[in-house]
Amino acid sequence: LTSEAQAVLDEIEAQNVGFLRLQFTDILGTVKNVAVPADQAEKAFVDGIYFDGSSIEGFVRIQESDMRLIPDASTFAVLPWRKREDGASARMICDVYDTSTGEPFEGDPRYVLKQAIKRADEMGYMVNAAPEPEFFLFEEDEDGRATTNTNDAGGYFDLAPKDLASDVRRDIIYGLEDMDFEIEASHHEVAQGQHEINFEYDDALTTADNVGTFRTVVRAIAAQHDLHATFMPKPIPKINGSGMHTHISLFTEGGENAFHDDDDEFNLSETAKQFTAGILEHAEALAAVTNPTVNSYKRLVPGYEAPVYVAWSDRNRSALIRKPAARVPAASRIEARFPDPSCNPYLALAVLIHAGLDGIERGLECPEPVRENIYEFDEAKREEYGITTLPSNLGEAIDALEEDDLVKGALGDHVAEKFIQAKSQEFSEYLVDVSEWELDRYLETF
Ligand code: GLU
Ligand code: MG
Ligand code: MG
Repeated sequence: LTSEAQAVLDEIEAQNVGFLRLQFTDILGTVKNVAVPADQAEKAFVDGIYFDGSSIEGFVRIQESDMRLIPDASTFAVLPWRKREDGASARMICDVYDTSTGEPFEGDPRYVLKQAIKRADEMGYMVNAAPEPEFFLFEEDEDGRATTNTNDAGGYFDLAPKDLASDVRRDIIYGLEDMDFEIEASHHEVAQGQHEINFEYDDALTTADNVGTFRTVVRAIAAQHDLHATFMPKPIPKINGSGMHTHISLFTEGGENAFHDDDDEFNLSETAKQFTAGILEHAEALAAVTNPTVNSYKRLVPGYEAPVYVAWSDRNRSALIRKPAARVPAASRIEARFPDPSCNPYLALAVLIHAGLDGIERGLECPEPVRENIYEFDEAKREEYGITTLPSNLGEAIDALEEDDLVKGALGDHVAEKFIQAKSQEFSEYLVDVSEWELDRYLETF
């Protein structure tokens, strides 16, 4: 047993943990749990815990269904909303192994991200990332089902008493802090009922783990207040949707920020610019992974602070990538503004990292930043600036993904195939559906 694993066993003892939830995510980013009595922890570390992977989205074919979970001891945390006298519950995030080969399972999104991190490492970089997941809090109806009624009338940075949800947000923050999150700031977002809680940046793997935990904690604690927290990108038309802006920087082995350059006008190094150029180059295909739902594309429309155009900027929010102001060299970074919180955080970070590294490897030239409001550009002006647009729906994004070998390669054969299958199916179902909007518009007219 490693010393980290031994420390977990001690912690289980000390905190009277009765049950362990062993977690991993499926290809669509849903957190899955296998619960085991806490006295199985040692066995889990040594042999792993076997489970049937055939029922997990996109994991395996039926005939090769046995999977093995090995917990990552560094992710041990007691669940704050399950604290009890008679025994707490704790979770650990696991890596998934193939029982037939004993190798890491290539359909495990955590493995996909580890491969991206490995590539960065081989190029001499460590990847830091910080996401900003936005979400809505909605009331539940009498049956406990989610509605789209917000329970407050606050606006951006509004203070109580307008922001009735600030109590809930405070409890969410306590819950996150109990799970070792370093919370930097929290505020009411632009839209009614919309919130953002920022947590500290970390290495890419920890950050992806954190996003899954964040979504679980936010939902669980909102539910204790009879509210439904949703990370759906655009729950209400004609107001802001929810993004998950993702800040990224690369550090060298010596601990220097490879994205910083004192002499550059934007304090961005050539490396940062090439990384940016790589993301811009692969943007259409990346969108399939960072914006993976039908609903994602209802957010990526002009006028709601979400990006639509493939460009970068040092100030404006209509661009795909922004260079946020940084007070110290270590904080120089880029902010990818297109991802939304319905994405699988492991896959999203993996493809962003690969696209950026591709830009560095090929020495791609970064275009000039666009400082005007691109929402106001007409087509001719966009053409003059060489600005293309993101896919306008999931179908176009999947088509772009199918044509982009770099992004498909970042996912690996298994995940790429299953992902494209699942998402094509989702889009076809949407295409044949008849929406509320159509009924309102046509039912009585024709
Ligand atoms: N809610 C906006 C989005 O969809 C972002 C607002 C902000 O800049 O924080 O990306
Ligand atoms: Mg925000
Ligand atoms: Mg932001």
